[in-house]
Amino acid sequence: MSAYTKDNKVTHAGVAVNNWAGDFDCSVCHRKRLTASEFSKKMQEKKRRGEGGLKCKPCVEKAAQAERDAAAAKAAAAPAAPAAGAPAAAAATQVCSACERALPESSFTKPQLKKGPAKQRCQPCIAAADRGEADAADAKKAAALAEAKKAVKIAEATGSAAQKLKANAQLAALEGELVTGLKPMVIGRGRRGSGGRGRGRGRGRA
Ligand SMILES: [Zn+2]
Ligand SMILES: [Zn+2]
Repeated sequence: MSAYTKDNKVTHAGVAVNNWAGDFDCSVCHRKRLTASEFSKKMQEKKRRGEGGLKCKPCVEKAAQAERDAAAAKAAAAPAAPAAGAPAAAAATQVCSACERALPESSFTKPQLKKGPAKQRCQPCIAAADRGEADAADAKKAAALAEAKKAVKIAEATGSAAQKLKANAQLAALEGELVTGLKPMVIGRGRRGSGGRGRGRGRGRA
């Protein structure tokens, strides 16, 4: 909870955001009322489709790590030289299209192997890409939030009441998105035009 929203009694879509909590539950660690920012885009979409079995980012990462560990352990346990009469073992190496390493088949998920040598990626590469995507998305959100906060500061210092309201509303919308995972447009609670205090998008008003 930022001091800013507390001090300014910011509301989002007419709902006070003080002490807000999200409505995301993790099916693995069973933490409840988490905010959307604890979940990947993929999981947020899953929730939007009404599916259960959501996993928070730490739980997804933990599972991926466990899978990598298991794959590594399996690879280590595999006999170094294929036993005679077991030609399958020799063929059980796959080349990752991303890092171009020849790795034991156990380093790949079945869906990846189905994509074929031109597209398949090993588990470490997929994990790295997932992390990169999540980091980029987080950085983008943080930047947008910082930008909105700056706009509020400027508006508070020099702007008209309408400009202040607009800047505050934009900031609240961004913070709301972090909690709900929803863009503000999607939220519309059927109260459009009722002009609740602090909704502040200024539509339908003089
Ligand atoms: Zn979890
Ligand atoms: Zn790879």
